[in-house]
Amino acid sequence: MAQRRDEYIELDNDADLQWQASAACRGENGSLFYPPPRFERKDHRVSREKRAKSICLGCDVQGSCLDYALRTAEPHGIWGGLNERERRDIARRTS
Ligand code: SF4
Repeated sequence: MAQRRDEYIELDNDADLQWQASAACRGENGSLFYPPPRFERKDHRVSREKRAKSICLGCDVQGSCLDYALRTAEPHGIWGGLNERERRDIARRTS
């Protein structure tokens, strides 16, 4: 699981987050799922997100992950196989 998600588990053992224990990205380098703190070239972003999304495709909890990110309006990173822009598009269409 990506590092930032591990931090969520340590900070919040709420049952709402138990799905994270089965995350395919558990132990992965968080830099694959989140943009760097500074500028990222578009071709690097596309490549990084493609690799992260390929992990999401094989994840048993993809639905729970995406649902959580949508409910909490998670502003950054790849969650449930979608990046922040794709999640905002869903939220806009369903609001
Ligand atoms: S869907 Fe992707 S981001 Fe979400 S837990 Fe699974 S691998 Fe991680």
